[in-house]
Amino acid sequence: MTTHAGTETRGFQAEVKQLLKLMIHSLYSHREIFLRELISNASDACDKLRFSSLADPALLADAGQLEIRIDFDSKARTITVTDTGLGMTRDEAVEHLGTIAKSGTAEFFSRLTGDAQKDSQLIGQFGVGFYSSFIVADRVEVRSRKAGQPAATGVRWTSEGAGEFTVEDIERAERGTSVVLHLKEDAAEFADAFRLRQLVRRYSDHIAFPVLLRPDGGQGEYDRANQAQALWTRQKQDLSDDEYREFYRHVSHDPGEPLAWSHHRVEGRREYTALLYVPSAAPFDLYNRDAPRGLKLYVRRVFILDDAEQFLPLYLRFVKGVVDSGDLPLNVSRELLQQDREVEAIRGAITRRVLDLLAQLAENEPDKYRKFWKEFGAVLKEGLAEDDEWMVGYLGEYEGKPLKDAAKGALGLEALVPEGERKAAQLTASALEPLWQRIAGRLGDRVAGVRASERLTDSPSCLVREEHDLGPQLRRLLEAAGQSLPPSRAWLELNPSHPLVRRLDALADGDEFDDVATLLHEQAVLAEGGQLSDPAAFVRRINRLIGAASAPRIVTPGAD
Ligand code: ADP
Repeated sequence: MTTHAGTETRGFQAEVKQLLKLMIHSLYSHREIFLRELISNASDACDKLRFSSLADPALLADAGQLEIRIDFDSKARTITVTDTGLGMTRDEAVEHLGTIAKSGTAEFFSRLTGDAQKDSQLIGQFGVGFYSSFIVADRVEVRSRKAGQPAATGVRWTSEGAGEFTVEDIERAERGTSVVLHLKEDAAEFADAFRLRQLVRRYSDHIAFPVLLRPDGGQGEYDRANQAQALWTRQKQDLSDDEYREFYRHVSHDPGEPLAWSHHRVEGRREYTALLYVPSAAPFDLYNRDAPRGLKLYVRRVFILDDAEQFLPLYLRFVKGVVDSGDLPLNVSRELLQQDREVEAIRGAITRRVLDLLAQLAENEPDKYRKFWKEFGAVLKEGLAEDDEWMVGYLGEYEGKPLKDAAKGALGLEALVPEGERKAAQLTASALEPLWQRIAGRLGDRVAGVRASERLTDSPSCLVREEHDLGPQLRRLLEAAGQSLPPSRAWLELNPSHPLVRRLDALADGDEFDDVATLLHEQAVLAEGGQLSDPAAFVRRINRLIGAASAPRIVTPGAD
């Protein structure tokens, strides 16, 4: 093969190679999704150019309107998806079409097991984008030229989807990108006007730019195959669940299903539309601090930016969707968003909407809510620490009574106990003070202290944190996310009327006292879902106590 100046062959990033290999097998039965992925990318490129042209209108000068065209040639077995969007430079093509830019990708791929079925589910969550071209094509050619750059700066990228790709310089008069798929023999069916039109309707009807097709693929006039109206601007009653679901896949890059959504328009002093989705499965990078999060921001239907995290609190970072503001200036930047009072007001309202949506789900569709809780419950709990205002507003009251975390601080339950009983209880509690001291001495710095409990009825012990200390789940979460936290020391509260506590009181200092005291603490750790620092020692203690309790029967078998 001749190599001409500027031609360069490169290897794909290792993860891309893995993705390509897995994807071709696992998505084989859904291979038509390639078209939706390419149209979705083309639409993003048009959105980005429209945004860049706000600051530099000349960027739009060198071609007609923003649109997406699909051509095909059934004899040559090719499909070409062209957009008049932002386009790519040569360096960008190398970067974007040779690597995966998602944070946490390497960890994600290290979780693949080699078991085809499990792996294909994982890949399903990951999203395949451009690379899905290789499900139907054995050679893919991308020709692109960045808007605003001279025709001579075009790039041609080609690959057979194995280990490498080639890039070279080309002339390209039109800005934007064409992706040419050289279809595999068994994918010839897709080079067909009827089939393509049907797929555009099914998957890409909501794309806000015209998707154009020619009836015969040949010379005829292009006509529009989609509605070409931003979905969130349409009336709720005109939209089907399937349309909402397809739009979710487009905005979230998640090939799965949304669990629930909320679509609302606010008019009056403040104007905006929000379409918010709760996904049905947690993304692989939910706990990755650098992972993109937030909504797509539009201003009066013009795309402004992705991952606008200013519109949701961190503990709702799993929510996907769009917010389209009627009031923000078109030249708003990420930095400006941070200080904008308008944004803050929208964030408050959107947060409420999401919590309402979840509350409705819990009430009306408990199965779905359980699913939600399994995937995202831990993240939602972060809200207790992050945003006390909202969660307390939502979860802090039940039928007019304030709720309190029973594992935190003093409860004030004594007011519920009749005066006489309270006196008697105080007497017992103070009589047990020496016992609390003995136990505290045994447990050392594993606890902040030991005291009588007013909250336990059946259990002998529990751990109680100060009002502002972190709960164990939240602590584990933050630690898993790499935060270093001060050591947590909870109070050990004991139930004065429990037989185990009584038994302990009757024991003299010694091994058995140590065992029972330690077990009361370990039980409390386990009961709140915590982990023991030395599980083997715990088992030995349990065995010693069981052994002691059953010793007479073992020593004198058959005695009774
Ligand atoms: P994703 O769209 O999820 O980012 P893809 O693998 O589909 O992932 O695409 C990778 C990147 O390649 C995109 O983020 C974009 O930067 C670039 N890209 C893909 N298609 C186009 C296109 N038609 N025009 C411009 N850039 C594109």
